[in-house]
Amino acid sequence: MSTFEYRDGRFFCEQAPIESIAERFGTPAYIYSRQRILDNFRRLVDAFRDVSSLICYSVKANSNLAILKLLREAGAGFDIVSGGELARVGRAGADPRTVVFSGVGKTASEIDAALRARILMFNVESAGELERIESRVRAASQCEPGGISIRINPNVAAETHPYISTGETIHKFGVTPGEALELYRRAAASPHLRVRGVACHIGSQILAVEPFLEALDEVLAVAEQLRSLGVTIQDVDMGGGFGIRYADEPALDLDRLAREFITRVRATPYRLLVEPGRAVVGDAGILVTRVLYVKQNPEKNFVITDAGMNDLMRPALYGSYHEIVAVGRRSEERVRADVVGPLCETADFLARDRDLPDVKPGELLAVLNAGAYGYVLASNYNTRPRPAEVLVDGEHAELVGRRESVEELMSRESA
Ligand SMILES: *Cc1c(COP(=O)(O)O)cnc(C)c1O
Repeated sequence: MSTFEYRDGRFFCEQAPIESIAERFGTPAYIYSRQRILDNFRRLVDAFRDVSSLICYSVKANSNLAILKLLREAGAGFDIVSGGELARVGRAGADPRTVVFSGVGKTASEIDAALRARILMFNVESAGELERIESRVRAASQCEPGGISIRINPNVAAETHPYISTGETIHKFGVTPGEALELYRRAAASPHLRVRGVACHIGSQILAVEPFLEALDEVLAVAEQLRSLGVTIQDVDMGGGFGIRYADEPALDLDRLAREFITRVRATPYRLLVEPGRAVVGDAGILVTRVLYVKQNPEKNFVITDAGMNDLMRPALYGSYHEIVAVGRRSEERVRADVVGPLCETADFLARDRDLPDVKPGELLAVLNAGAYGYVLASNYNTRPRPAEVLVDGEHAELVGRRESVEELMSRESA
């Protein structure tokens, strides 16, 4: 049985009819499947089972506390990119020794908070950041040395959307392997730092295995050079980026990727870390929206929905494709239309030139594969409260993120 499917003409998430969830919690709403999240996570754990490994879920893909708690209970570590995400994983009860902190712009106060929390390691992205971490440890009294990896930029092309490719020298992320060695020398000589590993992350929504293997070879080469310098490491962190299927593209062959990783890592003393985000939550969530109006211009048909680019930004930001289905019925009649939101922007679309069932105002649509980089990228543009978030477990649907109110949005401001 699949997670989101039609039964007798009605669309379900697990055993819960989407229509009743929308009635109960309103639209637009994100609906997540607990079972699908766990299945995705366990599939990753299984894939890397034959080598010492830790799956650090990338919090930025979907940071809802209920999901973090679910994954923590399933044994996940976490990859965070801000002090805010550090607070979230703390709230979800994460063991700090499973938390890695990535990102090019960690502030002094974020570094202090992570040192206090005693996270596993910082994935360091520049010489300046390494110095900053060292000086924050020095400044704090009774602080253990900060665990660090250097994030190398292996200069491989990830063959994904240019906005989510990160592993080439034109990108802001990481440092060259040559510079990394210099930083490792400095770190190894400092009483305030403890070298833990080598890290990289080459981008997101990558569908080919080869770029990952090229990157791993670079990472292992750096680890080998460290060994000859007498610097021992425990972890190689290969980041995330495992692509999922949005349309009819061939999916990433995760099993092959894992086998190739295992073959290479097994020959070493290192533990393998991976930081998947999208692969855990992407296909476990949908955005449900109600059709407000249907209109025709001389050139085009438009389906106007109560969800817009403020709720799901991926189509506007990356031109991403999300499959859209009618919740209530599977009409044979199809119409080519743009699905657009209520915002005053031409980029405010969920789909363009899409063959859709001939929907009418009041009907519900489900935007599929919206579990990753959906709610987390939502904004309040046009003073629109962000949507509700619902977690489904069997036939039970629980509100895990209350819809914002306009009052709340205005309450921070003074006039
Ligand atoms: C975004 C990010 C991830 C997760 O990427 P996915 O494509 O969602 O798997 C992992 N590691 C780092 C450093 C990231 O920035």
